[in-house]
Amino acid sequence: MATIRFENISKIYKSKDKKKVKAVKNINLEIKDKEFIVLVGPSGCGKSTTLRMVAGLEEISEGNLYIDDKLVNDIPPKDRNISIVFQNYALYPHMTAYENLAFGLKIKKVDKKTIRNRVMEAAQILEIEDLLSRKPKSMSGGQNQRVAIGRAIVRKPKVFLFDEPLSNLDAKLRGQMRIEIAKLHKTLKTTVIYVTHDQVEAMTLGERIVLMDKGEIQQVDKPIVLYNKPRNLFVAGFIGTPTMNFIEGIFVKNNNNIVFKGVSDAFQFTLPPNHFMENHVEEPIIAGIRSENIFDKINSDSSENEFATFPCTIQLVEELGNEKFAFAYLHNKEIVARLKPHAEIVIDKPTKLFFAIKKMHFFNKQTGLALD
Ligand code: ADP
Ligand code: MG
Repeated sequence: MATIRFENISKIYKSKDKKKVKAVKNINLEIKDKEFIVLVGPSGCGKSTTLRMVAGLEEISEGNLYIDDKLVNDIPPKDRNISIVFQNYALYPHMTAYENLAFGLKIKKVDKKTIRNRVMEAAQILEIEDLLSRKPKSMSGGQNQRVAIGRAIVRKPKVFLFDEPLSNLDAKLRGQMRIEIAKLHKTLKTTVIYVTHDQVEAMTLGERIVLMDKGEIQQVDKPIVLYNKPRNLFVAGFIGTPTMNFIEGIFVKNNNNIVFKGVSDAFQFTLPPNHFMENHVEEPIIAGIRSENIFDKINSDSSENEFATFPCTIQLVEELGNEKFAFAYLHNKEIVARLKPHAEIVIDKPTKLFFAIKKMHFFNKQTGLALD
């Protein structure tokens, strides 16, 4: 059993010229027992620093960290009962896989028979029994990473930490290992904090995602909530591929209706009733729409308020077999639409795309916050 609680945690690094850099800012977060939580964000946003503070490898500059309601700020790493798996495996090159797995237990003076049982158990879970006599340099990246995970398992920690464990593997292997790690969590039922810069990994593995930028938490929630209800522009743009399309504009009042005007007068549409945008008239707005909510055709019986017509020229199409990406332009504004494989697309001539208005997101341009 292990809950983890961050209470206003910050990390301040001092650089060589004595300047202070606040790499992690006022993190407040509660991780539940057995939860699989993913920290995701661009390079340099403070993910590893946050993880290393949990492991005890980095001193906490401000705030309190609790594991199972016990303050652990001053508890050394070896007494925290936590295992960490790194991107570069960090195996001992002169030891066999077996010796690497056994090492941590050996220095803890665990008896030989228990060591053997635990190593064999971990090897079985990870299907590396055949590799136990090999040394790291005679194994592939994927095999080394399994051994590194095995070494974390044999210690039977309360918490598993992963720092970009799959980033050195090729795309196919990364996909396979992702599934293995999800299965491992089901088997071991341990609290996991998993760091990645890859939003697909975050979406597929995380029960909850903590999305960070510039040392701060931007949003914490289930993957689908980050996808459907991003609380700001950063979250909206980070989660999802292709990236959400953004169009700058403004809401204006027209009789009793609210109209969005964007890009140029060529693109404007009336919001459906009950849109709650009354308070945002005349504010600079950024509208967002995901590529799958843009259509090349709509039913003639669709109501007028359901779709916004985007007059454009499609300059390029990417055929992916199961779908097509269309790159459409209005003046210099590029929009990516994700269309059905059989969509008939007019290239290099004026055409129209249709945006599902109910699926659009609206953000305040200045604050970046989602409007609701
Ligand atoms: P991430 O893992 O998200 O890529 P890090 O936690 O490694 O980010 O780094 C966060 C910020 O802190 C970065 O700007 C990085 O340059 C800085 N940083 C990391 N480690 C140190 C250190 N030991 N000394 C000074 N600055 C550091
Ligand atoms: Mg990192």
